[in-house]
Amino acid sequence: MADELRRRWRNWSGEQRCRPLLIQRPRTREGLIAAVLAATARGRSVKVAGSGHSFSGAALTDGAMIDAGLLDRVLDQDAAGLVKVEAGITLGALNRRLDRRGLALESLGDIDRQTIAGAISTATHGTGARFPNLSSQVEAVELVAADGSLVALDAGTDGDGLRAARVALGALGAIYSVTLRTVTNFRIDRTDRPRPLAEALAALDELVDGRDHFELYAFPHTETALCRESTRTQAPAAPPSPAAAFAREVVVENWVAGAMARIARHVPAAIPTLSRLAAAGTGRTRKLDRSFRVYASERRIRFTEMEYAIPRGHAREAVERVLEIAARPEYRVCFPIEVRFVAGDDAMLSPAHGRDSAYIAVHHDHLGDWQPYFDAVAASMADYGGRPHWGKRHSLTAAELAGLYPRFDDFRAVRARLDPEGAFANPYLERVLGPAGAGGGRRRR
Ligand SMILES: Cc1cc2nc3c(=O)[nH]c(=O)nc-3n(C[C@H](O)[C@H](O)[C@H](O)COP(=O)(O)OP(=O)(O)OC[C@H]3O[C@@H](n4cnc5c(N)ncnc54)[C@H](O)[C@@H]3O)c2cc1C
Repeated sequence: MADELRRRWRNWSGEQRCRPLLIQRPRTREGLIAAVLAATARGRSVKVAGSGHSFSGAALTDGAMIDAGLLDRVLDQDAAGLVKVEAGITLGALNRRLDRRGLALESLGDIDRQTIAGAISTATHGTGARFPNLSSQVEAVELVAADGSLVALDAGTDGDGLRAARVALGALGAIYSVTLRTVTNFRIDRTDRPRPLAEALAALDELVDGRDHFELYAFPHTETALCRESTRTQAPAAPPSPAAAFAREVVVENWVAGAMARIARHVPAAIPTLSRLAAAGTGRTRKLDRSFRVYASERRIRFTEMEYAIPRGHAREAVERVLEIAARPEYRVCFPIEVRFVAGDDAMLSPAHGRDSAYIAVHHDHLGDWQPYFDAVAASMADYGGRPHWGKRHSLTAAELAGLYPRFDDFRAVRARLDPEGAFANPYLERVLGPAGAGGGRRRR
């Protein structure tokens, strides 16, 4: 049975809000089917929300919302490390349960609060030249279609269906379960070290290819880059004391960063100085712990974000251009530029589809005027055929996106097949994919 709640919904940063007709929280597969049918039988649109960590309007609806948070079980595990889980399990809970079984996810992003279905649906990624985004670890997906039928997608039965469902923006149906390829659990030995920016950019390929995971933060108004360099290892974990971890990850990375954002909001002329102070404060630190404890960190301050995937070969030039934009006083930017690297993959709507990619992320005070800065960065990303992260801010439309994705029409064909009436549509999907269904779908509320 689904719990029925009636309330407002907002995302993590509080910028995306909606008032669904109702919010249901199913606890079982049958409950999920009943929740979908209860909506579609009344002609309502349906949207499944994960944990609301998208900066885009991907999860918004004024129809029926399904909160997948209670669908959080590990369902099955086989000897080859395939693990089947319910869609609403968070990455944090999944990591802990996998670890107890001696397993781990191959790669992760920098937080673990997302649900597995939400994370794959927007192509959430980490960093590492050999590692594609999380959805590449998906072997099978089960989803509930608008008519209540359970559709099983895997490479053997429906390869294109799976390549669409791995990164589907919630457009194909309500995901009930995901089967993931896991690896033997491991530790990560991570060193954060400041390097001269010019030196880091000149040696970018060597840094990226010479480490399992490499990430770069470039501070506007400075000549400094903080390089986060990680090696996978089976050496025993040596976690920092809780007090040391709190001091570094909460006090330094959140409270100090939050205070700087507040000062910058009120005294924009101080931004170059604040940025230099932040860069100067980045000392060398090391962390050796279970993989998932190193990948994920605390994010207590709120911000908004845009991120583009571009062909990796353009990374250096693109970073230099974005830094030049970020330093323009009118944009009031007090966050570093974040640069990550992933291997290409074959999900139809993965921003890394068919190409090894560099992801360039820009952040801004969510209460400030972020739009002109993001627009200027997006314009430069267009020169490299940049594809926006589906869970972050961007303003591209279906007409523009169609030219960026070689299999865009194939995705739309799968969508027309699995959701012919547009039951899972919302304004975000109308903008980025166009109307649902062969004939444009039926508009619902
Ligand atoms: C602080 C922070 C840090 C982040 N770090 C990273 C990072 O390191 N790397 C990165 O790539 N991204 C990152 N993100 C973005 C985030 O990973 C994605 O936006 C992700 O989609 C959020 O997952 P969610 O569970 O919150 O999904 P939601 O935001 O709630 O939903 C995302 C989409 O998935 C759909 N969906 C969710 N569940 C289902 C389901 N069961 N069936 C069908 N559709 C479903 C929704 O309808 C929606 O379209 C970060 C975001 C924040 C706020």
